[in-house]
Amino acid sequence: MHVFFDNASTTPLDPAVVEVMTEAMYHNFGNPSSIHAQGRKARAAIEQARKTVARHLNASIGEIFFTSGGTEANNMALKGAVRHLGVSRIISSPTEHHCVLHSLDSLAKWEKVQIDYVRLDQHGQVDLTHLRELLAGSPLKTLVSLMHANNEIGSLIDLGEVSALCREYDALFHTDTVQTIGYYPIDLAANPVSFLSGSAHKFHGPKGIGFVYINSENQIGPYLDGGGQERNMRGGTENIYGILGLAKALDLAYDSLAERRAHITHLRDYMQERLQAECADMQFNGDPSQGHYKILSASFPASDKAELLLFNLDICGLSISGGSACSSGADAGSHVIAAIKPDDPRKTVRFSFSHLNTLEEVDFAIRCIKESLPAEQV
Ligand code: PLP
Repeated sequence: MHVFFDNASTTPLDPAVVEVMTEAMYHNFGNPSSIHAQGRKARAAIEQARKTVARHLNASIGEIFFTSGGTEANNMALKGAVRHLGVSRIISSPTEHHCVLHSLDSLAKWEKVQIDYVRLDQHGQVDLTHLRELLAGSPLKTLVSLMHANNEIGSLIDLGEVSALCREYDALFHTDTVQTIGYYPIDLAANPVSFLSGSAHKFHGPKGIGFVYINSENQIGPYLDGGGQERNMRGGTENIYGILGLAKALDLAYDSLAERRAHITHLRDYMQERLQAECADMQFNGDPSQGHYKILSASFPASDKAELLLFNLDICGLSISGGSACSSGADAGSHVIAAIKPDDPRKTVRFSFSHLNTLEEVDFAIRCIKESLPAEQV
């Protein structure tokens, strides 16, 4: 048996998505910028996909720009806000994804942007009182960048609350919604943001395609200079197969959100209950009952065997991760756990589920975990 409980790192492609993409590969190969029939056909398909994304977010079509994924979308928003909207200060949190944190490092270094970090509680939850103090404490043009759900521990912010706070202080608001697009309803008319990002491979779409939402009030310049594609915001011939796959995956995710959510929540709760019942001294990072329903961040007592847990679970046939899927492939430790529990010697393992997982797979995972832990812990 092989079990994939690493659905926060990526998700398997939905067969219906593969079908749409394959059909386009065979029959919709035109360059969307060409004015002949094949070009017009490709252009029409892309614009239809853009309409789909905009409809699901209650946004305007002109506010959606396709990118190569979440990393590019976040880079585009943060760097565009600094370079084109006069932002000279960014308030963020130490538990953002590295594509945000490293963008902030580079903006601080090369563009002298002031970066302030908001306080988090022991569950990784943003301290809104501190955010208000930070917003009130500076006359600089400010952007707040806070992720909707943390990819390692699942902690969530209330988009409406942060959006209102940012408006009160005339600050821009960027939110990394890579883990929540397709999992939570997002209504941008009700909860306005300046920028938001999405990535298809997190909701059973293809890798290498995502989008950035840019509120029409914020006119930024091109991120990639080129042939004027994406209404001159991102040069380069569009990834039509990816774009169509993204739109199909998003449709499927939102059309079946309630059933998928109920199933995934049940799996996550069952996994937590069984870990608590069968392994001694279990703890959980974040607050699973309040966090993203697909993520369970479990913390095991420190031991030599716990250090080898990921390795041994992989041999057993269980794919999970230590925190986020990191670019080097090495288990380098988690900046998220380090930020909320400094010097914690325990071993963190992230289980993340999809609607394709089953209760039998949870039972299998528990057996593997029990075999991999020291005898006194099971
Ligand atoms: N933001 C978050 C919260 C993520 O979890 C990820 C992916 O791990 C990204 C951004 C990056 O997205 P992509 O892999 O599409 O570049």
